[in-house]
Amino acid sequence: MSAFKTLDDLGDVTGKVALVRVDLNLPMQEGTVTDDTRIRAAAPTILELSEKGAKVLLLAHFGRPKGERVSTQSLSMVVGAVEKTLGKEVMFVPEIAGPVVAQSIGILRAGDIAILENTRFWKGEEKNDPELVKAIAANADFYVNDAFSAAHRAHATTEGLAHVLPAYAGRSMQAELEALDKALGNPEKPVAAVVGGAKVSSKLDVLKHLVKQVDHLIIGGGMANTFLAAKGVDVGKSLCEHDLADTANEILAIAEASGCTVHLPYDVVVSKEFAANPPSLRTCNVHEVAADEMILDAGPNAVETLGDVLKTCRTLVWNGPLGAFEMVPFDAATVALAKTAAALTAEGSLVSVAGGGDTVSALNHAGVAQDFSYISTAGGAFLEWMEGKELPGVAALSA
Ligand code: ADP
Ligand code: MG
Repeated sequence: MSAFKTLDDLGDVTGKVALVRVDLNLPMQEGTVTDDTRIRAAAPTILELSEKGAKVLLLAHFGRPKGERVSTQSLSMVVGAVEKTLGKEVMFVPEIAGPVVAQSIGILRAGDIAILENTRFWKGEEKNDPELVKAIAANADFYVNDAFSAAHRAHATTEGLAHVLPAYAGRSMQAELEALDKALGNPEKPVAAVVGGAKVSSKLDVLKHLVKQVDHLIIGGGMANTFLAAKGVDVGKSLCEHDLADTANEILAIAEASGCTVHLPYDVVVSKEFAANPPSLRTCNVHEVAADEMILDAGPNAVETLGDVLKTCRTLVWNGPLGAFEMVPFDAATVALAKTAAALTAEGSLVSVAGGGDTVSALNHAGVAQDFSYISTAGGAFLEWMEGKELPGVAALSA
């Protein structure tokens, strides 16, 4: 992993002004924050800087105001929720640069915290405009990036600032980078990857990258159907991208050339209707799917084999459920394999890292999220990292 500075590398910051990029893109309903997970993720960094005596200015985006002031997307709405989670008073500043910010800094005492306005109210944010970067930086002494979830974007406050101010990774960013490095950067071998979910087309680059990196690639969900069909299996009415047969075969060929074993289910759970507990539910061999049936989960024999694969591995990276887990009983394969992974992690034989919106819900549903070594909640950034891409926000911290 390329080297980046952390809060451990800060000298005396008493009275110094810190610009801290965090993720405050919080779920809201009628002006009220409904889930403070992202605030809790940023809290250790904010409180540590505050305790060290810095004046802490939080920078974040909210929604997609596209460079205009949109009053319903002002970050003033999250101040109460942030105060509650931090247990500290937080000032709101309706600008991100200029004299209003400078005056506010004059009022703040060492250790005080302020939230600046939604960075996306300014067009220069998403354009990474050097003038805006300079104007924001002018009020500060150093920059901390604690928003891994925004690190796949080269914006003024996620990337630009790191080039003009002394830049540090916050605690949450640091934990994410260390976990991801253990999973794919510098993993203990053998490595298994589970890639599931609805469509191959949404994860082509992930698959292409992983087959060259891992020892076992476990393909599940709707995307397994595309691979099965490409191998000549009749998948009936299953969700399947028949036009991607050539691509699927190409990926299988790269896997073979790279010594990666690809696992596809050989028994499956099928039904005629896309519904929970359907009357036509049955389990069969992949070669026995009828023309009017669809595959909605991996079968019990496949899951047992996959569990045995994980037992031989030291590292697991997981994105995408093995079946249509929102409907019972098509959650069974995902839940069973997740429990095996959690147990192996608890025993200390497996490092397990998972990410993706539906994956996190599926692991919560299985009741094992806290047993994985690391769960990333950074949707887009996590996937780009699984594609092997360098994230601009991370690269800028190491420059
Ligand atoms: P993530 O958000 O973790 O990246 P995806 O969005 O790629 O995951 O995929 C999750 C979706 O895939 C879920 O809504 C799930 O119901 C669907 N899915 C999984 N297996 C199947 C299947 N066999 N048929 C239809 N949909 C499926
Ligand atoms: Mg999803």
